[in-house]
Amino acid sequence: MDLSIRNLVKRFDRLTALDNVTLDVAHGSFVCFLGPSGCGKTTLLRVIAGLEDANEGTIQLGGEDLTAVPTRARNFGVVFQSYSLFPNMSAARNVGYGLECRRWDKAKIGARVDEMLDLVHLADHRTKLPAQMSGGQQQRIALARALAPDPSLLLLDEPLSALDAKVREDLRVEIRSLQQRLNLTTIMVTHDQEEALAMADVIVVMNKGAIEQIGSPRALYADPKTAFVADFIGRMNILRLDESDRGNPSFGGVALKVANIENAANDARALGVRPEMISLSDAEAGGENTLPATVSGITYLGNITRIEAVSDAQPDTPITVELHGASAVPKPGERLGLVIPAEALRV
Ligand code: ADP
Ligand code: MG
Repeated sequence: MDLSIRNLVKRFDRLTALDNVTLDVAHGSFVCFLGPSGCGKTTLLRVIAGLEDANEGTIQLGGEDLTAVPTRARNFGVVFQSYSLFPNMSAARNVGYGLECRRWDKAKIGARVDEMLDLVHLADHRTKLPAQMSGGQQQRIALARALAPDPSLLLLDEPLSALDAKVREDLRVEIRSLQQRLNLTTIMVTHDQEEALAMADVIVVMNKGAIEQIGSPRALYADPKTAFVADFIGRMNILRLDESDRGNPSFGGVALKVANIENAANDARALGVRPEMISLSDAEAGGENTLPATVSGITYLGNITRIEAVSDAQPDTPITVELHGASAVPKPGERLGLVIPAEALRV
């Protein structure tokens, strides 16, 4: 059952938290709402969950209009950042609580709780209270509770943000494989681009209450349509072009060949290039698409070395280069050329 969201508007007094949001979520897909704090991700999720009414717009699931259906009748599973388990109930009772409310019979609840505890690998924690479990375990209980009534949609609001790095990465993999196994349509809110890239089939990039771009992780990384998306997903160097003929871009007097420039606007004012697409050359100048620059900083990060280089043309904004493996690393103050392939430049 596909989810179809049309022209949602949500206002809080004079603030427009959602500004005409239209979006389709395909059945069985994992969708991330990604954007900076305050851009409206949680509000959109809460409107979908029915925890918040929209001022305008409609939501349909499998063709059925949900706009006026109350939260409880939507049968969606919801997990928040704070695990929000009942502190005085065992793990098992927390998982079964929603089923008790739905008046399932006792035997059926017991079987379902066992199944859910197995699913999140916490069968031997069934009698523990939330305070006796780690953050990651509590969040898996919250997940089991959300999944127990067999929801038609799973909604996750920054479920991993409160956990430390290792647990967060394990749970990423666990949630994703669960979601795929159950073929459960899932929407997760996150402000963490790495999390979105690692988990989502489709990322919805939001900015100031509106959708900036929708696409697969690869499509958004390779072909961001706006500077906001380019900058929010990964790092993007921005080269401000000379004020010359816009059809023939140049940067500090160096003519730049750009693949597919005819497909893009001829009045480009800036070009973007990913740090890992730039290579270094000893020759400071002269080569094709080679910008003269001075190394200003080097950060060793294990698998990559990040180099900041100040180009002669744009001294206020250093250009970031990422080298993989143990290639020869330059020294601060060294002069060199930044070689940028024509295919790597984005208008
Ligand atoms: P995000 O989850 O992307 O950080 P939110 O959806 O929580 O953003 O918030 C979007 C905007 O709406 C913010 O400016 C926030 O302050 C405002 N907002 C959210 N909930 C309320 C509320 N209940 N009352 C008033 N303003 C709200
Ligand atoms: Mg939020």
